[in-house]
Amino acid sequence: MDELKRRIRARIESFQDEAIAFLADLVRAESVNPPGDTRRVMDAVLDMARTFTDQVRVVAAEPEAPNVFITLHPGGRPQLLYNGHLDTVPPGDVSQWRVEPFGAVIRDNRMYGRGVADMKGGCAAMLMAAKALQLENAPLRGSLVVNFVSDEETGGARGAGYLMEQGHYDPDMVVVGEITNRNRIAIAEKGVIVYALSTRGRTAHASTPWVGLNAIDKMVKLLHGLQTRLPERLKEKPSGSLPPATFNVGTIQGGVGFNVVPDACQVLIDRRILPGETIESATAEIREIIDQARAEDPDIDASLDVLGSGPPFETAPDEALCLLARRTMEEMGRPGDFVGYEQVSDGRFFAERGIPTILIGPGLARTAHTPNEHLELDQYIEAIQAYALLALNALV
Ligand SMILES: [Zn+2]
Repeated sequence: MDELKRRIRARIESFQDEAIAFLADLVRAESVNPPGDTRRVMDAVLDMARTFTDQVRVVAAEPEAPNVFITLHPGGRPQLLYNGHLDTVPPGDVSQWRVEPFGAVIRDNRMYGRGVADMKGGCAAMLMAAKALQLENAPLRGSLVVNFVSDEETGGARGAGYLMEQGHYDPDMVVVGEITNRNRIAIAEKGVIVYALSTRGRTAHASTPWVGLNAIDKMVKLLHGLQTRLPERLKEKPSGSLPPATFNVGTIQGGVGFNVVPDACQVLIDRRILPGETIESATAEIREIIDQARAEDPDIDASLDVLGSGPPFETAPDEALCLLARRTMEEMGRPGDFVGYEQVSDGRFFAERGIPTILIGPGLARTAHTPNEHLELDQYIEAIQAYALLALNALV
């Protein structure tokens, strides 16, 4: 096994230039979501996959958003699934970029571009790891499935969510290649709930406001209650390796003109929940604060609706996959301790079905979704090594 690992590491070193050129191809194949047309980037993936295997299967809910499965040793057990997404967020204000957002420019050993870190780097590394295993004829007992989806940034309805619903997944273990701040091992992530909080009033002329009921004034009272009472409750919740639970009022809408008493107001709230919290518990906390405001002002007419949600998860630190990942990192002289993932990933689709799921990926989270997104190329090559060695540890 040591000899095999040595050969595979040498193979990865020898094809570094090819691996970097492949990553550049993925970055240049713009795949901004929305609209999420990933056909060009998928073509680049398929071209690379077909240089080493014909076990390639494309599954699409819509033709412009294909998903792919690339399998080594089909049918073997256990099955280790490597998952990544090929869509990216938009480049945003292009004037804020020092380089062309889809140019894959390399400076100071870093590649720049929208999606290079989140997460074409993780995807490219997963596929190049599979290539190294295949070229060195790694004697796999289990199977390695490399799966890239086209729709993660807008929720996964055409991506991992669709594949799960349609019964295309059957892994024993899952590694998601999202950014974990230089290939750390993340075993937990927060969940998210999106709320619409609405108040209703009665419209009237602004010169006689006492005839109406101002829905914005009522919303201010509710927001004041939430802002003064919720943050301290969230701070008290133990978050372990994860950042704390959060609450953010993201949008506010209400009123038709300065001279009209508004009869409706609505805010959208993003609430990040920790493992152990549920939609029910988080919603009950907000309702309690609304009820208190209502006790002080019976004219408040408010409703709270859940518009969407994704569950949090935490994989047990003594789960075999976590221990295999730790061993792999320690073999590479990298930190083998467990951290929390700071954002939300497709990992939830697997974790909520009880499949052990972790995240390991190159890049720094603070560069994702920002201008001048970049990836250090040594982290990228290190990720290829990590994915290849982890597959060996898990599957041989
Ligand atoms: Zn991502």
